[in-house]
Amino acid sequence: MTTIFHKIIQREIPADIVFEDDHVVAFRDIAPQAPVHVLFVPKQDFATLNDVPTDAPEIIGRLAVAAARYAKEQGFADDGYRIVMNCNEHGGQTVFQIHLHLLAGAQLGRFGTAA
Ligand code: 5GP
Repeated sequence: MTTIFHKIIQREIPADIVFEDDHVVAFRDIAPQAPVHVLFVPKQDFATLNDVPTDAPEIIGRLAVAAARYAKEQGFADDGYRIVMNCNEHGGQTVFQIHLHLLAGAQLGRFGTAA
């Protein structure tokens, strides 16, 4: 399935891309939920976290490591940040290409309560 994130990765639609390597693309969220809100997306195609093979944990690990590296480079790693992956309806997933949210830049509230 082609999603908006595939189109961003293919440069078919614009985005504020802040990081890219052979495996991961990261760009600012269009509707930020914190002063810093960046999405880390693998170049491999998986609709949800459920679809990532159990023998390929590096696909998720690369997203988290890229997020931590970005936080250090941007100078907010020591203050702290949150990474989140939403999965399917109850998780609130809206774009079905897996992605990791990096939220930072302010004291974040609690999470996990019902909508
Ligand atoms: P999800 O709800 O699937 O975990 O997160 C999807 C995220 O993608 C949302 O935070 C939403 O604001 C963001 N988003 C949706 N469409 C676009 C877009 O066209 N460009 C960018 N940069 N972010 C988008």
